[in-house]
Amino acid sequence: MPSAIVIGGGLAGLSAAAALGGAGFHVEVFESRPFLGGRATSFPLSPASDASELIDNCQHILLRCCVNLLDFYARLGVQDSIRFYREFYFIEPGGRVSTLRRGALPAPLHFTESFMKMRFLGAGDKIAIARGLLALRRERTRRKDLDSITMLDWLLQKRQTPRAIERFWRQVLVSAVNEDVDRMAARHGFQVFWLGFLARADAYEMGVPAIPLGELYRAELWRGIGDISLRLRCPVERIDPEGITAGGQRRTADYYICALPFERLAGLGLPAPAFEHSPITGIHLWFDRAVTDLPHATLLDRTIQWMFNKSAGRYLQLVVSASRDLAAMSRADIVALALDELGEFFPDARQARMEKAHVIKELRATFSAAPGTEALRPAPETSRTDLFLAGDWTRSGWPATMEGAVRSGYLAAEAVTAASGRPARFLLPDIA
Ligand SMILES: Cc1cc2nc3c(=O)[nH]c(=O)nc-3n(C[C@H](O)[C@H](O)[C@H](O)COP(=O)(O)OP(=O)(O)OC[C@H]3O[C@@H](n4cnc5c(N)ncnc54)[C@H](O)[C@@H]3O)c2cc1C
Repeated sequence: MPSAIVIGGGLAGLSAAAALGGAGFHVEVFESRPFLGGRATSFPLSPASDASELIDNCQHILLRCCVNLLDFYARLGVQDSIRFYREFYFIEPGGRVSTLRRGALPAPLHFTESFMKMRFLGAGDKIAIARGLLALRRERTRRKDLDSITMLDWLLQKRQTPRAIERFWRQVLVSAVNEDVDRMAARHGFQVFWLGFLARADAYEMGVPAIPLGELYRAELWRGIGDISLRLRCPVERIDPEGITAGGQRRTADYYICALPFERLAGLGLPAPAFEHSPITGIHLWFDRAVTDLPHATLLDRTIQWMFNKSAGRYLQLVVSASRDLAAMSRADIVALALDELGEFFPDARQARMEKAHVIKELRATFSAAPGTEALRPAPETSRTDLFLAGDWTRSGWPATMEGAVRSGYLAAEAVTAASGRPARFLLPDIA
């Protein structure tokens, strides 16, 4: 069977490796870091100590409509390590909670009951949102300008109220696409609401890994999949027509998949698009007592957008997507801001003593899904017949997410099988 070298052990590279390994290819994965998972990984909080707890780079969540990511987890046998939740909690400053869950009606009306009861929106906001969702459903396949206008342009065209934009559309989309509604192409907003909210009644269910992210790809899980060798701490220094150089050594294979972030390609002599980045900030806080019993919640009208309860209400992970405003702030100031805001949503946090805090600013979290970007995202094929591209920034059909990365890996693996004369299909179609 032919051989393939995969460069980069993030989700794009790992999914390509799993697909090709399963199809009988001899696969070698080269990853520069000592662990797999790329941006969707975990690491020891205190690297110097063997007993250090593992923390996620940042809380990563998925939805049931992430069918390729779930397929990849199934290949590794870890699908049961994802815990799905049917409730979304929206909290206002002051602590009032509204819950979104599906009811008895079929899609696309499955949220009607809980949506009507949401207390953070007025009747006018709800009517505007219902009108907006209907228009989205109708215009999804008809409009041709969804990659050239922003989501905010579209929301204003549909006469959405300021509160509906701020507390509903923006609140959902900024975290899903990691970009603000005045900067994201409308096509991404459409996709999130169509696939996640309208197409199927269970599609919105939120999956949260019940184990540290890095353990989803641990070494022993790869044994049953095929002939796949994982080379950690092995940065690739060069890619040229004769092969690659990794750790000073030449390596060759029949096919190569470059699954690196786009900003790394130029350093290896490959052309790359000049996308802008959008940052994400993760704030980990440990308290001396429980400050909430909710498993997670989205926080309205403030800087912090999401809270995830990682351990008995005492260890919380807070997430701010498209966090440009926090980029220049010191970590101490970010922690102070987070504590202030938490107290507004969870009064118990005011009495609690913070035991430790850890802030991770990912300035290059994802590419910015701005209007006009879609046409610049490359397909897996390159000018070479033996070299293919993968990564959440390539043309996967999804924004930069774990699902987008896995889709890109499967597409690159399909392109390799086609080039080898053994065409195979790995990509699963979207749910609708
Ligand atoms: C803070 C944060 C929060 C996020 N939250 C979510 C979320 O909730 N849900 C979601 O779906 N997505 C989320 N994402 C996005 C998601 O993590 C990414 O879209 C996805 O993991 C990208 O995978 P990838 O394989 O394309 O790239 P990467 O994960 O970046 O993988 C690239 C790999 O290449 C390696 N590498 C780099 N240079 C070399 C070299 N020279 N040689 C060998 N290896 C090299 C890197 O170490 C890395 O492991 C989040 C991202 C961030 C940063």
